[in-house]
Amino acid sequence: MRYLTTRLSAIVKPVLAKSRFIHKVMQDEPKFFTLPEMVRVLEEFAPLSLAEKWDNVGLLIEPTKPRIVRSALVVNDLTEKVLENAINSSVDLIISYHPPIFVPMKRISQSNWKDRIVAKCLENQIAVYSPHTAWDAVDGGINDWLCSVITGKGVQFDSRPITPNITDPNRGAGRIIEMNQSKPFESVVETIKAGSNLNHVQIAIGSNQNMCSEIKTIALCAGSGASGLKGVPADLYVTGEMSHHDVLDAVHRNISVVLMNHSNSERGFFEVFRSEFYKRFCSDSSDPKLTKILLDSVDDQDPLKTY
Ligand SMILES: [Zn+2]
Repeated sequence: MRYLTTRLSAIVKPVLAKSRFIHKVMQDEPKFFTLPEMVRVLEEFAPLSLAEKWDNVGLLIEPTKPRIVRSALVVNDLTEKVLENAINSSVDLIISYHPPIFVPMKRISQSNWKDRIVAKCLENQIAVYSPHTAWDAVDGGINDWLCSVITGKGVQFDSRPITPNITDPNRGAGRIIEMNQSKPFESVVETIKAGSNLNHVQIAIGSNQNMCSEIKTIALCAGSGASGLKGVPADLYVTGEMSHHDVLDAVHRNISVVLMNHSNSERGFFEVFRSEFYKRFCSDSSDPKLTKILLDSVDDQDPLKTY
């Protein structure tokens, strides 16, 4: 935060000289992040070099006017409802885990919801940053959070990426967990439900297994993990979603499966991110307003429900 204080004072000093009133107001302002400083902090948390080559990550929408980030919404998906929340809460930045812009856009029209989101963000001067697979790969990121949900508290385990990053082999896509002690499948399922606050998950039982079968090796991938998990030897696969045929394939290879729904296997991490953000980047601030920068949205939920 030291560099932030210095840079902000450089910006506001000429203004302060003009009016005592403004001076008083600005003195009462906490030292918030500018947008470039916020982007730098987010990239320090999870370098974009960790993201998959096919991904579209980083600052995706940058408003024309310089921004000071007084509040940022952290969401899984930037839907139109979520954007309404953001506009009503006057947020300066939306950190959308999934990139709302993915395929190249040839026009920004009003005919589809993704275009309308981009147009509204620009109209309302709201910046959008998307970390996506950089958050999956980084140590202490989404897949590591999912490891802790699956094993539960107090269980010793080793984990490694399924596909290590080329430049940093300790980080990467997916995780393989080896628990020090095996646990019955039923117990693993209950631990996952408790750790993710879910009442229901979908399960498939490996062809020669049952609910009491011992589970020791688990391969996991947050979100849609079928392609990353394919062919990985394990007792159990855990991910958000898999196709019917990928589930059948796993079952025939005697591997059980737990599906949590796509974003339910990701969004629980945001609470971890918030506390890590405040701890790492706001710890030398005594201003309580700074520890309320990151907001959530009640409308950011997995679209699939068990009815
Ligand atoms: Zn996802």
